[in-house]
Amino acid sequence: MHAIAIEANQMIWREHDAPGALGASDVRINVAWAGMNRADLMQRGGNYPPPPGESEIPGLEVSGTISEVGHGVERFRKGDRVCALLAGGGYAEQVVVNEAQVLPIPQGLGLREAAALPEVFATAWLNLYMEGAVQTGQRVLLHAAASGVGTAAIQLCRVFGNPCFVTAGSADKLETCYRLGADAGWNRHDGSFVEAVKNWGGADMILDPVGGDYIAQDLVVLNADGRLVLIGLMGGLEAQINLGRMLMKRQRVIGSTLRSRSAKAKGAILDALYAHVWPKLVSGDIKPLIAGAWPIQEAETAMQHLSDNRNTGKILLSVSG
Ligand code: NAP
Repeated sequence: MHAIAIEANQMIWREHDAPGALGASDVRINVAWAGMNRADLMQRGGNYPPPPGESEIPGLEVSGTISEVGHGVERFRKGDRVCALLAGGGYAEQVVVNEAQVLPIPQGLGLREAAALPEVFATAWLNLYMEGAVQTGQRVLLHAAASGVGTAAIQLCRVFGNPCFVTAGSADKLETCYRLGADAGWNRHDGSFVEAVKNWGGADMILDPVGGDYIAQDLVVLNADGRLVLIGLMGGLEAQINLGRMLMKRQRVIGSTLRSRSAKAKGAILDALYAHVWPKLVSGDIKPLIAGAWPIQEAETAMQHLSDNRNTGKILLSVSG
Protein backbone atom coordinates (compact mmCIF):
# COMPACT_ATOMS: atom_id res chain seq x y z
CA MET A 1 0.00 0.00 0.00
CA HIS A 2 0.94 3.68 0.01
CA ALA A 3 1.13 5.80 3.16
CA ILE A 4 2.62 9.05 4.43
CA ALA A 5 6.16 8.85 5.79
CA ILE A 6 7.68 11.74 7.74
CA GLU A 7 11.16 12.41 6.34
CA ALA A 8 13.12 15.50 7.42
CA ASN A 9 9.90 17.07 8.76
CA GLN A 10 8.20 16.59 5.39
CA MET A 11 5.25 14.33 4.65
CA ILE A 12 5.96 12.05 1.69
CA TRP A 13 3.40 9.70 0.08
CA ARG A 14 5.27 6.49 -0.70
CA GLU A 15 5.08 2.70 -0.64
CA HIS A 16 4.72 1.23 2.83
CA ASP A 17 4.06 -2.21 4.32
CA ALA A 18 0.34 -2.77 4.84
CA PRO A 19 -0.79 -3.35 8.45
CA GLY A 20 -0.33 -7.04 9.36
CA ALA A 21 -2.75 -9.79 10.36
CA LEU A 22 -5.92 -8.89 12.24
CA GLY A 23 -6.46 -9.60 15.93
CA ALA A 24 -9.76 -11.22 16.88
CA SER A 25 -11.48 -7.86 17.49
CA ASP A 26 -9.88 -5.92 14.63
CA VAL A 27 -11.22 -4.75 11.32
CA ARG A 28 -9.29 -3.67 8.23
CA ILE A 29 -10.52 -0.48 6.58
CA ASN A 30 -9.79 0.61 3.01
CA VAL A 31 -9.36 4.32 3.68
CA ALA A 32 -11.39 6.78 1.63
CA TRP A 33 -10.65 9.99 3.56
CA ALA A 34 -8.34 10.92 6.43
CA GLY A 35 -8.92 13.84 8.80
CA MET A 36 -6.03 16.18 9.61
CA ASN A 37 -5.44 17.32 13.19
CA ARG A 38 -3.09 19.66 15.04
CA ALA A 39 -1.51 16.58 16.56
CA ASP A 40 -0.28 15.55 13.08
CA LEU A 41 1.54 18.88 12.78
CA MET A 42 3.20 18.23 16.13
CA GLN A 43 4.09 14.69 15.07
CA ARG A 44 5.59 15.97 11.80
CA GLY A 45 7.75 18.34 13.85
CA GLY A 46 8.98 15.47 16.06
CA ASN A 47 7.10 16.76 19.12
CA TYR A 48 4.35 14.15 19.44
CA PRO A 49 5.55 10.58 18.96
CA PRO A 50 2.87 7.89 18.66
CA PRO A 51 2.04 5.95 21.84
CA PRO A 52 4.24 2.83 22.29
CA GLY A 53 3.34 0.05 19.85
CA GLU A 54 1.25 2.27 17.57
CA SER A 55 1.92 3.01 13.89
CA GLU A 56 4.56 5.62 13.01
CA ILE A 57 2.29 6.78 10.18
CA PRO A 58 0.42 9.97 11.18
CA GLY A 59 -3.38 10.25 11.13
CA LEU A 60 -5.87 9.92 13.96
CA GLU A 61 -9.12 9.40 12.05
CA VAL A 62 -10.40 7.96 8.80
CA SER A 63 -13.49 6.97 6.92
CA GLY A 64 -13.70 4.07 4.50
CA THR A 65 -15.02 0.61 3.77
CA ILE A 66 -14.33 -2.52 5.81
CA SER A 67 -12.43 -5.10 3.74
CA GLU A 68 -11.79 -7.78 6.40
CA VAL A 69 -12.97 -8.59 9.94
CA GLY A 70 -11.32 -10.56 12.78
CA HIS A 71 -13.04 -13.77 13.86
CA GLY A 72 -14.38 -12.17 17.07
CA VAL A 73 -15.83 -9.02 15.47
CA GLU A 74 -19.51 -8.64 16.29
CA ARG A 75 -20.66 -5.24 15.09
CA PHE A 76 -19.30 -4.95 11.54
CA ARG A 77 -19.15 -6.89 8.27
CA LYS A 78 -17.08 -6.68 5.13
CA GLY A 79 -18.43 -3.86 2.97
CA ASP A 80 -19.67 -1.65 5.84
CA ARG A 81 -18.98 2.07 5.44
CA VAL A 82 -17.48 3.34 8.67
CA CYS A 83 -15.37 5.97 10.38
CA ALA A 84 -12.70 5.26 12.99
CA LEU A 85 -10.78 6.93 15.80
CA LEU A 86 -7.12 5.87 15.65
CA ALA A 87 -3.97 6.17 17.76
CA GLY A 88 -2.11 6.66 14.45
CA GLY A 89 -1.78 5.23 10.95
CA GLY A 90 -4.62 7.08 9.23
CA TYR A 91 -2.62 8.70 6.40
CA ALA A 92 -2.58 5.42 4.51
CA GLU A 93 -4.54 3.29 2.08
CA GLN A 94 -5.36 0.73 4.81
CA VAL A 95 -5.71 0.75 8.59
CA VAL A 96 -6.32 -2.06 11.07
CA VAL A 97 -8.16 -1.04 14.22
CA ASN A 98 -10.12 -2.55 17.09
CA GLU A 99 -13.85 -2.56 16.33
CA ALA A 100 -14.43 -0.59 19.55
CA GLN A 101 -12.86 2.41 17.79
CA VAL A 102 -15.17 2.19 14.77
CA LEU A 103 -18.63 3.67 14.17
CA PRO A 104 -21.03 3.38 11.26
CA ILE A 105 -21.37 6.46 9.08
CA PRO A 106 -24.35 8.51 10.25
CA GLN A 107 -27.29 8.05 7.89
CA GLY A 108 -27.37 10.87 5.34
CA LEU A 109 -23.66 11.66 5.56
CA GLY A 110 -21.03 10.60 3.03
CA LEU A 111 -17.55 9.21 3.56
CA ARG A 112 -16.08 12.71 3.15
CA GLU A 113 -18.06 14.26 6.03
CA ALA A 114 -17.61 11.14 8.17
CA ALA A 115 -13.81 11.54 8.18
CA ALA A 116 -14.32 14.91 9.90
CA LEU A 117 -16.12 13.39 12.90
CA PRO A 118 -14.20 10.93 15.09
CA GLU A 119 -11.28 12.89 16.56
CA VAL A 120 -12.90 16.26 17.11
CA PHE A 121 -16.31 15.09 18.28
CA ALA A 122 -14.74 12.47 20.56
CA THR A 123 -12.43 15.15 22.01
CA ALA A 124 -15.23 17.66 22.46
CA TRP A 125 -17.64 15.12 23.96
CA LEU A 126 -15.05 13.54 26.26
CA ASN A 127 -13.86 16.82 27.66
CA LEU A 128 -17.13 18.73 27.90
CA TYR A 129 -19.47 16.03 29.14
CA MET A 130 -17.25 13.32 30.67
CA GLU A 131 -14.14 15.02 32.11
CA GLY A 132 -15.80 18.43 32.44
CA ALA A 133 -19.14 16.96 33.62
CA VAL A 134 -21.05 19.87 32.09
CA GLN A 135 -24.73 19.90 33.07
CA THR A 136 -27.57 21.40 31.04
CA GLY A 137 -27.56 25.19 31.34
CA GLN A 138 -23.98 25.46 32.55
CA ARG A 139 -21.87 28.09 30.81
CA VAL A 140 -18.83 27.10 28.79
CA LEU A 141 -15.75 29.01 27.61
CA LEU A 142 -14.13 27.54 24.48
CA HIS A 143 -10.67 28.68 23.37
CA ALA A 144 -9.41 28.26 19.77
CA ALA A 145 -13.07 27.82 18.99
CA ALA A 146 -12.72 27.97 15.18
CA SER A 147 -10.46 24.88 15.26
CA GLY A 148 -11.70 21.43 14.33
CA VAL A 149 -12.30 20.65 17.99
CA GLY A 150 -13.81 24.07 18.69
CA THR A 151 -16.34 23.95 15.84
CA ALA A 152 -17.48 20.54 17.13
CA ALA A 153 -17.64 21.79 20.73
CA ILE A 154 -19.73 24.88 19.85
CA GLN A 155 -22.33 22.68 18.17
CA LEU A 156 -22.46 20.26 21.10
CA CYS A 157 -22.96 23.21 23.46
CA ARG A 158 -25.80 24.52 21.29
CA VAL A 159 -27.73 21.25 21.02
CA PHE A 160 -27.17 20.19 24.63
CA GLY A 161 -28.23 23.51 26.16
CA ASN A 162 -24.94 25.10 27.20
CA PRO A 163 -24.39 28.78 26.40
CA CYS A 164 -20.82 29.24 25.20
CA PHE A 165 -18.34 32.09 24.92
CA VAL A 166 -15.62 31.61 22.32
CA THR A 167 -12.17 32.98 21.61
CA ALA A 168 -10.66 32.90 18.11
CA GLY A 169 -8.09 34.76 16.03
CA SER A 170 -10.15 36.84 13.57
CA ALA A 171 -13.52 38.54 13.06
CA ASP A 172 -14.33 36.08 10.27
CA LYS A 173 -13.62 33.10 12.49
CA LEU A 174 -15.77 34.61 15.26
CA GLU A 175 -18.62 35.12 12.78
CA THR A 176 -18.49 31.43 11.90
CA CYS A 177 -18.52 30.53 15.60
CA TYR A 178 -21.66 32.66 16.12
CA ARG A 179 -23.30 30.99 13.12
CA LEU A 180 -22.56 27.58 14.67
CA GLY A 181 -24.22 28.66 17.92
CA ALA A 182 -21.77 30.59 20.09
CA ASP A 183 -23.34 33.22 22.33
CA ALA A 184 -20.50 35.70 22.48
CA GLY A 185 -16.85 35.90 21.62
CA TRP A 186 -13.47 37.62 21.76
CA ASN A 187 -10.70 38.09 19.21
CA ARG A 188 -7.56 36.80 20.92
CA HIS A 189 -5.46 39.45 19.16
CA ASP A 190 -7.38 42.20 21.00
CA GLY A 191 -5.75 41.42 24.38
CA SER A 192 -7.03 39.55 27.41
CA PHE A 193 -10.44 37.88 27.25
CA VAL A 194 -10.98 38.25 31.01
CA GLU A 195 -13.22 41.35 31.17
CA ALA A 196 -15.38 40.18 28.23
CA VAL A 197 -15.98 36.76 29.81
CA LYS A 198 -16.64 38.29 33.24
CA ASN A 199 -19.22 40.65 31.69
CA TRP A 200 -20.83 37.64 30.00
CA GLY A 201 -21.25 35.97 33.40
CA GLY A 202 -18.17 33.78 33.82
CA ALA A 203 -17.82 30.10 32.94
CA ASP A 204 -18.69 26.88 34.75
CA MET A 205 -16.39 24.90 32.48
CA ILE A 206 -13.47 25.91 30.23
CA LEU A 207 -12.07 23.84 27.36
CA ASP A 208 -8.51 25.09 26.92
CA PRO A 209 -6.13 23.84 24.21
CA VAL A 210 -3.80 26.83 24.75
CA GLY A 211 -2.36 26.59 28.28
CA GLY A 212 0.52 29.01 28.96
CA ASP A 213 -0.67 32.40 30.19
CA TYR A 214 -4.32 31.51 29.43
CA ILE A 215 -4.46 29.35 32.57
CA ALA A 216 -4.18 32.21 35.07
CA GLN A 217 -6.81 34.16 33.09
CA ASP A 218 -9.07 31.11 32.91
CA LEU A 219 -9.05 30.78 36.67
CA VAL A 220 -10.15 34.42 37.05
CA VAL A 221 -13.28 33.81 34.98
CA LEU A 222 -14.00 30.24 36.16
CA ASN A 223 -17.00 30.20 38.49
CA ALA A 224 -17.13 28.44 41.88
CA ASP A 225 -17.02 24.64 41.48
CA GLY A 226 -15.91 25.18 37.87
CA ARG A 227 -13.76 22.79 35.83
CA LEU A 228 -10.88 23.82 33.59
CA VAL A 229 -9.99 21.01 31.18
CA LEU A 230 -6.57 21.46 29.56
CA ILE A 231 -6.28 19.62 26.24
CA GLY A 232 -3.38 21.36 24.52
CA LEU A 233 -0.36 23.58 24.99
CA MET A 234 -0.39 25.83 21.91
CA GLY A 235 0.46 28.82 24.17
CA GLY A 236 3.18 27.16 26.26
CA LEU A 237 3.93 24.76 29.10
CA GLU A 238 4.35 27.13 32.04
CA ALA A 239 1.53 28.70 34.08
CA GLN A 240 1.21 30.80 37.24
CA ILE A 241 -1.83 29.81 39.30
CA ASN A 242 -3.42 31.71 42.19
CA LEU A 243 -3.87 28.79 44.56
CA GLY A 244 -5.85 30.89 47.06
CA ARG A 245 -8.60 31.63 44.55
CA MET A 246 -8.53 28.06 43.32
CA LEU A 247 -9.05 26.76 46.85
CA MET A 248 -11.77 29.21 47.86
CA LYS A 249 -13.73 28.77 44.59
CA ARG A 250 -13.27 24.98 44.65
CA GLN A 251 -11.95 25.10 41.08
CA ARG A 252 -10.66 21.93 39.43
CA VAL A 253 -7.94 21.75 36.77
CA ILE A 254 -7.99 18.57 34.68
CA GLY A 255 -5.42 17.47 32.08
CA SER A 256 -6.80 15.25 29.32
CA THR A 257 -5.47 13.38 26.28
CA LEU A 258 -7.43 11.12 23.96
CA ARG A 259 -4.80 9.44 21.79
CA SER A 260 -3.04 7.49 24.55
CA ARG A 261 -6.26 5.99 25.97
CA SER A 262 -6.89 2.27 25.50
CA ALA A 263 -9.14 0.84 22.79
CA LYS A 264 -11.70 0.13 25.51
CA ALA A 265 -11.64 3.71 26.80
CA LYS A 266 -11.88 5.10 23.26
CA GLY A 267 -14.76 2.69 22.67
CA ALA A 268 -16.65 4.05 25.69
CA ILE A 269 -16.33 7.58 24.30
CA LEU A 270 -17.49 6.47 20.85
CA ASP A 271 -20.44 4.61 22.42
CA ALA A 272 -21.49 7.89 24.03
CA LEU A 273 -21.07 9.72 20.72
CA TYR A 274 -23.17 7.11 18.94
CA ALA A 275 -25.93 7.42 21.55
CA HIS A 276 -26.00 11.21 21.92
CA VAL A 277 -24.39 12.85 18.88
CA TRP A 278 -25.05 10.48 15.95
CA PRO A 279 -28.83 11.18 16.11
CA LYS A 280 -28.08 14.93 15.89
CA LEU A 281 -25.91 14.32 12.81
CA VAL A 282 -28.68 12.25 11.22
CA SER A 283 -31.25 14.98 11.93
CA GLY A 284 -28.92 17.68 10.60
CA ASP A 285 -28.84 19.61 13.91
CA ILE A 286 -25.07 19.12 13.91
CA LYS A 287 -22.93 19.27 10.76
CA PRO A 288 -19.17 18.81 10.56
CA LEU A 289 -17.57 22.02 9.35
CA ILE A 290 -15.08 21.25 6.57
CA ALA A 291 -12.52 23.97 5.82
CA GLY A 292 -10.98 22.28 2.81
CA ALA A 293 -9.75 19.05 1.27
CA TRP A 294 -6.59 18.03 -0.58
CA PRO A 295 -5.45 14.79 -2.22
CA ILE A 296 -3.23 12.97 0.27
CA GLN A 297 -0.30 13.35 -2.11
CA GLU A 298 -0.57 17.09 -1.26
CA ALA A 299 -0.62 16.57 2.51
CA GLU A 300 2.24 19.05 2.92
CA THR A 301 0.18 21.84 1.31
CA ALA A 302 -2.80 20.98 3.49
CA MET A 303 -0.64 20.99 6.59
CA GLN A 304 0.81 24.38 5.73
CA HIS A 305 -2.76 25.71 5.64
CA LEU A 306 -3.37 24.28 9.13
CA SER A 307 0.00 25.46 10.43
CA ASP A 308 -0.79 29.01 9.21
CA ASN A 309 -4.08 28.91 11.23
CA ARG A 310 -6.04 29.45 8.00
CA ASN A 311 -8.63 26.70 8.59
CA THR A 312 -12.00 27.20 10.26
CA GLY A 313 -13.08 23.63 11.03
CA LYS A 314 -11.61 20.47 9.57
CA ILE A 315 -9.04 19.82 6.87
CA LEU A 316 -9.45 16.50 5.03
CA LEU A 317 -7.18 14.38 2.84
CA SER A 318 -8.66 12.35 0.02
CA VAL A 319 -7.09 8.87 -0.14
CA SER A 320 -9.44 6.98 -2.45
CA GLY A 321 -12.61 9.03 -1.94
P1 NAP B 1 -6.78 23.24 14.42
O1 NAP B 1 -8.00 22.95 13.61
O2 NAP B 1 -5.44 23.14 13.80
O3 NAP B 1 -6.97 24.72 15.00
C1 NAP B 1 -6.06 25.26 15.89
C2 NAP B 1 -6.35 26.77 16.02
O4 NAP B 1 -5.83 27.22 17.27
C3 NAP B 1 -5.62 27.64 14.99
O5 NAP B 1 -6.30 27.68 13.75
C4 NAP B 1 -5.62 28.99 15.70
O6 NAP B 1 -6.88 29.61 15.48
C5 NAP B 1 -5.56 28.61 17.18
N1 NAP B 1 -4.23 28.85 17.76
C6 NAP B 1 -3.03 28.52 17.22
N2 NAP B 1 -2.05 28.89 18.04
C7 NAP B 1 -2.63 29.48 19.12
C8 NAP B 1 -2.13 30.08 20.30
N3 NAP B 1 -0.83 30.15 20.56
N4 NAP B 1 -3.03 30.59 21.19
C9 NAP B 1 -4.37 30.52 20.94
N5 NAP B 1 -4.90 29.97 19.83
C10 NAP B 1 -4.03 29.45 18.93
O7 NAP B 1 -6.76 22.36 15.74
P2 NAP B 1 -7.44 20.98 16.19
O8 NAP B 1 -6.81 19.84 15.48
O9 NAP B 1 -8.92 21.13 16.20
O10 NAP B 1 -6.93 20.95 17.71
C11 NAP B 1 -7.25 22.05 18.56
C12 NAP B 1 -6.45 21.92 19.83
O11 NAP B 1 -6.94 20.82 20.57
C13 NAP B 1 -4.95 21.66 19.60
O12 NAP B 1 -4.23 22.31 20.61
C14 NAP B 1 -4.86 20.16 19.79
O13 NAP B 1 -3.55 19.75 20.17
C15 NAP B 1 -5.88 19.95 20.89
N6 NAP B 1 -6.41 18.57 20.93
C16 NAP B 1 -6.22 17.88 22.07
C17 NAP B 1 -6.71 16.61 22.19
C18 NAP B 1 -6.53 15.86 23.46
O14 NAP B 1 -6.97 14.72 23.56
N7 NAP B 1 -5.89 16.44 24.47
C19 NAP B 1 -7.41 16.02 21.11
C20 NAP B 1 -7.60 16.77 19.94
C21 NAP B 1 -7.09 18.06 19.86
P3 NAP B 1 -7.11 31.22 15.58
O15 NAP B 1 -6.68 31.77 14.26
O16 NAP B 1 -8.56 31.32 15.82
O17 NAP B 1 -6.29 31.71 16.72
